Amino acid sequence: MKKHNFYAGPSILSEYTIKNTAAAVENFAGTGLSLLEVSHRSKEFVAVMDEAQALVKELLEVPAGYEVIFVGGGASMQFCMVPFNLLNKKASYLDTGTWASKAIKEAKLFGEVDVVASSKEANYTYIPKNYTVPEDSDYFHITTNNTIYGTELHNDPDVKVPLVADMSSDIFSRPVDITKYNIIYAGAQKNLAPAGVTIAIVRTDALGHVDRSIPTMLNYKTHIEKGSMFNTPPVLPVYSALQTLKYYKELGGIPAIQKKNIEKASLLYDEIDRNKLFHGTAVPEDRSLMNVCFVMNEEYKDLEAEFASFAASKGMIGIKGHRSVGGFRASLYNAMPVESVKALIDTMKEFEKEH
Ligand SMILES: *Cc1c(COP(=O)(O)O)cnc(C)c1O
Repeated sequence: MKKHNFYAGPSILSEYTIKNTAAAVENFAGTGLSLLEVSHRSKEFVAVMDEAQALVKELLEVPAGYEVIFVGGGASMQFCMVPFNLLNKKASYLDTGTWASKAIKEAKLFGEVDVVASSKEANYTYIPKNYTVPEDSDYFHITTNNTIYGTELHNDPDVKVPLVADMSSDIFSRPVDITKYNIIYAGAQKNLAPAGVTIAIVRTDALGHVDRSIPTMLNYKTHIEKGSMFNTPPVLPVYSALQTLKYYKELGGIPAIQKKNIEKASLLYDEIDRNKLFHGTAVPEDRSLMNVCFVMNEEYKDLEAEFASFAASKGMIGIKGHRSVGGFRASLYNAMPVESVKALIDTMKEFEKEH
C-alpha cells in the first residue's frame, strides 16, 4: 500500500532528494568513495557547500550584504546564538507557540526581553496582530510558522526594527522580503534535508555590535568567514539540502511552490470545514499552509481513536496531533504531493459516510 507521509518533522523529502542522496552514499560525485567517507575539504564536497549556499541565495533572492551559512545544533541552538550575537540591551519577541517561547527563554539570558504579544491564553490558536514593537529593540523575533499549533504569519511584518525569524517549518514555502530581516534561521528537517544541519541567512552588518565576547562556535562571523567549514559540517544533510534546492529550482522556484502549497492546504481546510466530524483548531485567517491541525467535533469525540486507526489502514502516516493540541495534524511540506492530500481527504469522507 502507498504510504502518505504527514509527519511534522523530520518529515517528507522529495524522491529526488532521497534517490540522489542514496546514490551519493554509494558513490559520491564519481569519486568511487561514499559521501560518508570523503573529506569535507575535498574539492567535490567544497563544491557541494558552495552550490548549496548559492542556491539558497538564488531561490530566496537574497540581496548583497547577506551570507548563508550551514551550521549544526538545530534551530534550538539558534535560540541562543541569535541573542548572543545581536542582543545588546533589549530585544522584542512575539510569543506564538512552543518554539517561540523556547526562543524567549534563551534570550532572557542575554538581556531585557519584551514579549510584545502572546496568544498563549488561547492555546496559541491565532497570531497576535495589534502590538507595538519598541523602537529601541535590537531586533524583533518572530516564528513565521508554528509547527505545533498550525498557525502561520503569511506576510513579513512591518515594524521599525530589524526582524529575526525562526522559519524552520516554512522556509522556501513562500517568497520572503529578506531586506526586512537581520537573521533568518531554519532547522533542515522540515522543508530541506535530514536533521543535522541548520541554515542561517545573516545580514553581515548586523554583527559585531554587542559588547560581550562570543564563543568561537557560537559566533556567526566564524562560520561566515570559514564558509561553513570552521569545523566538520554534517556532510550528508548538506548534500541532501543541495538536492532539495535543485529540485525546488526545477519546480519553478518559490512562487511555483507557494502556488502548490496554497492549493494543497485549501483542499484540506475545505474538507475540514465541510466534514461534519471535524473542525480546525486555528483561526481561519492564521491557518498554516504547512501544518494543518484539526480535531473531532464534540459530539464525535469518541471516534478519535477509530479514525486514527482507519486512517492508518489507508496508509496515512504521522497524522496524530501534538499532545498540546490533541486530535490530528497533517503536515503538508513542500515535498508533499497533492495526491497524498487528496488521499487523506478521501479517507475523511469515507469515514464520515460510515458514521
Ligand atoms: C522543529 C522546530 C524547531 C526545533 O528544531 P530543532 O532543529 O529540533 O532544534 C524550532 N522551531 C520551529 C518553528 C520548528 O518547527
